[in-house]
Amino acid sequence: MALREYRRKRNFGSTKEPFGKKTSKSSKRLTFVIQKHAASRLHYDFRLELNGVLKSWAVPKGPSLDPHIKRLAVQVEDHPLEYGKFEGTIPQGEYGGGSVLLWDRGIWEPLDKDEKVTLEEGKIKFLLKGKKLHGAWTLVRIGDTSNWLLMKETDEYASDEDITELLPKSVRSGKVIEAIGRSKASRVWHSHSKKSTASTREHTVRKTTKK
Ligand code: MN
Repeated sequence: MALREYRRKRNFGSTKEPFGKKTSKSSKRLTFVIQKHAASRLHYDFRLELNGVLKSWAVPKGPSLDPHIKRLAVQVEDHPLEYGKFEGTIPQGEYGGGSVLLWDRGIWEPLDKDEKVTLEEGKIKFLLKGKKLHGAWTLVRIGDTSNWLLMKETDEYASDEDITELLPKSVRSGKVIEAIGRSKASRVWHSHSKKSTASTREHTVRKTTKK
């Protein structure tokens, strides 16, 4: 069962991440999503829908539009399709504790093969049609490891601009990642106090998020 490891790592009584339904049939249009994740280390989770789950890689530096730059992408456990809608905060102490921002989403198409393509061969070339990322990309596995390299192919969407710097906001909420952490801290603080002013609230929030 594809989602066993995903579920084993998480406490669904505590985190708001989705449990995931029974693996559903593959759709014609395959989705992709990239989530910016401020866990113990900031990284970008790159996820491609395949066979009813999201194949997933943690990309420490995020994607680069420069075809000369190869970004390390560590393959992690498959995630449920519903995870592609998740934006919010995973409680501290839980697996991946920290804020998750929906950085990009859209559809993808395999370039070399049809939708029956598998990642088992360790190389896949594909087209992204997202809100931020477009054009041809390649993921290639390094030997027999869980380490892959994510790189942009040369086309009209290649660029030397730093896309993660340039477009930091969520494609869902328009928030930056610090704002996602902040709204959570604010909510928690509110539940413990009846009287508050905007200034003390702001102060508390800042102290909380700096920890
Ligand atoms: Mn992550």
